Amino acid sequence: MAVSSGDRVKRVRVSLGTAIVLGLGEGKINAEPTTAYLLTYFEGRCTANCAFCPQARGSSSRTDMLSRVIWPDFEVKDVTAGIKRAFEDGKIERVCIQALNYPGVQDDILSLVKSIHSECYVPISVSCQPLNPTGIRMLAEAGVDRVSIALDAATEKIFSEVKGEGAGGPYRWDRHLEALRSALQVLGRGRVTTHLIAGLGESEKEFIYMVQKCHDMGVFPAVFAFTPIPGTRMANYPRPPIDSYRRIQVAHYIITRSLGRYEKMRFKNGRLIDFGISGEDLKKIILSGEPFLTSGCPGCNRPYYNEEPRGPIYNFPRKPSQRDIMEIMAQIGIDYIIAGKSYDRVEEC
Ligand code: SF4
Repeated sequence: MAVSSGDRVKRVRVSLGTAIVLGLGEGKINAEPTTAYLLTYFEGRCTANCAFCPQARGSSSRTDMLSRVIWPDFEVKDVTAGIKRAFEDGKIERVCIQALNYPGVQDDILSLVKSIHSECYVPISVSCQPLNPTGIRMLAEAGVDRVSIALDAATEKIFSEVKGEGAGGPYRWDRHLEALRSALQVLGRGRVTTHLIAGLGESEKEFIYMVQKCHDMGVFPAVFAFTPIPGTRMANYPRPPIDSYRRIQVAHYIITRSLGRYEKMRFKNGRLIDFGISGEDLKKIILSGEPFLTSGCPGCNRPYYNEEPRGPIYNFPRKPSQRDIMEIMAQIGIDYIIAGKSYDRVEEC
């Protein structure tokens, strides 16, 4: 159960990097988070059973982990004081409350939002299970800026296998999509996010199709790379190949900035072979480094959520250096595209 006092939650988990930025812990960090990442505190496991998640009911991982990050717990009053300081000093732009699935979680989220906003009016994102329209309305009325309902999987079949029926979990694809539509009705376009994890067994084509579908709905899809965590059902599953992830990042950038569309892209055996824009535009986009930054709510950079700081870096928490961009170009094989060839011809060479 959650530890609360009266109607206020007393403890909350904070990602290690966030704890350092908020002055709650000491340590050296390679890249500071620009969003404060919080996780609801619950003495037990999530009631859902996502195959990749250390918090899942059937996982034997540490309960203070989410993805590869450790989340120590603190008193809410210390965390909110740290948030006020860091927000006023311009160190953080946003707070993200990630919520496990357990009875009473909605009250805990509302209590946290209230506590944070009693200190300062920082924009808050809430990443939670699919709530009904009343639940979303309560979050909006409490002052929540954005809501994220994570699809995680890019296809219905994979969704069922990793977090739905096939995983012994409570989630259903249709209900998730319905909840995203309800959230859009309450909050409006541009204030609803979802998370998509690349590397769960889908093809690039399937993944990019889903990015386009979310964009057309008005939902922003934040993209992450699958990360195997010991103790989870997918502990021995491989990470996505970096060249594939780079193509997905570029396609995601093109679609979410309305610079092109899925229908104009070309695929061969499920792999992206043509981005559907000119070589010149493609080069500009890649050289900007922007497609390779962490995607998501404004201000979200989630340092090293998918990867070790020593690399390979899937999502860059800050602008990639020139050297990084050269490496990225080699990973994508961009020389061939600029020379007017596409991947299918590269394979024939
Ligand atoms: S995109 Fe970032 S800030 Fe938004 S819900 Fe996801 S993790 Fe939180």
